[in-house]
Amino acid sequence: MSKEHLVVERARKAFQTGKSKPLEFRVNQLKNLRRFINESRKDIADACKKDLNKSGNCTELFETLGIDGEINIAVKRLSEWAAPRPVEKSLLTISDEVFLQPEPLGVVLIIGAWNYPWAVTLQPLVGAIAAGNAAVVKPSEVSSHSAKLMEKLLPLYLDEELYPVVCGGVSETQELLRQRFDHVFYTGNSTVGKLVMEAAARHLTPVTLELGGKSPCYIDKNVDLRVACRRITWGKFVNCGQTCIAPDYILCEPSIQNRLVEEIQKCITEFYPDNPKTFEDYGRVINQHHFQRLMSLLEGSTVAIGGESDESLCYIAPTVLKDVRGDSKLMQEEIFGPLLPIVTISGVEEAIRFINEREKPLALYVFSQDRKLIMRMIAETSSGALVANDCLVHFTVSALPFGGVGNSGMGRYHGQHSFDQLSHLRACLIKKLNMEAANAMRYPPHTDKKLAWARIFFLTQVNIDRLRRMAMLAMFTSLAAFIVQRILRQR
Ligand code: NAD
Repeated sequence: MSKEHLVVERARKAFQTGKSKPLEFRVNQLKNLRRFINESRKDIADACKKDLNKSGNCTELFETLGIDGEINIAVKRLSEWAAPRPVEKSLLTISDEVFLQPEPLGVVLIIGAWNYPWAVTLQPLVGAIAAGNAAVVKPSEVSSHSAKLMEKLLPLYLDEELYPVVCGGVSETQELLRQRFDHVFYTGNSTVGKLVMEAAARHLTPVTLELGGKSPCYIDKNVDLRVACRRITWGKFVNCGQTCIAPDYILCEPSIQNRLVEEIQKCITEFYPDNPKTFEDYGRVINQHHFQRLMSLLEGSTVAIGGESDESLCYIAPTVLKDVRGDSKLMQEEIFGPLLPIVTISGVEEAIRFINEREKPLALYVFSQDRKLIMRMIAETSSGALVANDCLVHFTVSALPFGGVGNSGMGRYHGQHSFDQLSHLRACLIKKLNMEAANAMRYPPHTDKKLAWARIFFLTQVNIDRLRRMAMLAMFTSLAAFIVQRILRQR
């Protein structure tokens, strides 16, 4: 029996005791997770420095702050999320209780990726705990310092049986995927996403796939280019371009290409003064494999900014490529590094066509002052998210579901979306045993008259809230009429 099998068995047994279900227990575990983040801030920052050369403040801003925020919302709103949710009734069920009851799914497998090793692994865990599940946590082996730290410290804060951390590479993950789970939550690339879904299908296990892809960034020629470039430069080069929702490439008209290059150059100089190579807030490519992959993408393209590299440090300068063709190497796969190609198109019409000819992206960015153009992009394209006049920020809005569509993934999380994604919303109907006469229409013999009644009862939706509001309005109107009448009589 493999180690992975034993861990999953242990988590299932612990789940079956029911200890993960009481809301008080869930809140306690979430608070322990918050305590872990607070007490381990320095260790987490050190691990991220070693893995990706992230500065302490970058780690705080892009890793732990988001986890803290998700925990706070879950702790505050859990009783509301977990409560029965009444639904609209028909005349047939008017006297029944009809509601959705969120219930835990069971044992969830969370497979994390290396680029934000804490955020993409622990944010789904917040949802799993909040929803009352057990969860096996598998951090990415590629960000090895973070993975080892998670394995060492998390069990000191969370229930060890319910929330074990399993470290390992491809073979360990594949062994985990052979086990039966009640949900698999995977973050990573689309190729492995398919393998995950295939493995889950053998047990009919539902999956959430948080994948990536090429997120386009369309810039309208009439926009304030200075502001647009500040936001794009930040969104692209943070974490050395290794962000799933980083703008992958720019689409713009040829007339603004050179001004764009000038503005991005100014931003790079401002954000990473002197030299990005020695500046603490500029990261590194995760490893040599990705370094070589990125360098080979550069072949045959025109470098407008940057292009310098140092293989021994996995350093690639913030780099902008101009006049990039749609069929070039750079445009065939997600870049996931500090290379920003500019592809010129004739206008919004061609931009929409260009986007729609490719896989549905995780994020789509539009920079424009023209609201009509933004609404047109929303109407005529599809992506996990669309952000106008900024980059990345939708990730921070817990009320917005975070996830892809088509090749960029399936399922969603953040805030209540995490809770719902990792819960089963059970359909409940509680009927009383009286009023049996009302059921006559469904029992044989099925006469025309009974069918006519059934039609009315089945098809009439009753909005209890609306009825209640109308009754209140009628009551207030009668009261007002009565008072006015009395006043008029007294005169
Ligand atoms: P990775 O190499 O860390 O792989 C992710 C996980 O898959 C790891 O835990 C790894 O152990 C496992 N894995 C790898 N190969 C496997 C195999 N053959 N069988 C089973 N498991 C395997 O990360 P990555 O895939 O390089 O991550 C980068 C990708 O993830 C990019 O495409 C990026 O856009 C995407 N991403 C998406 C999000 C999101 O929230 N949508 C967030 C971060 C990254």
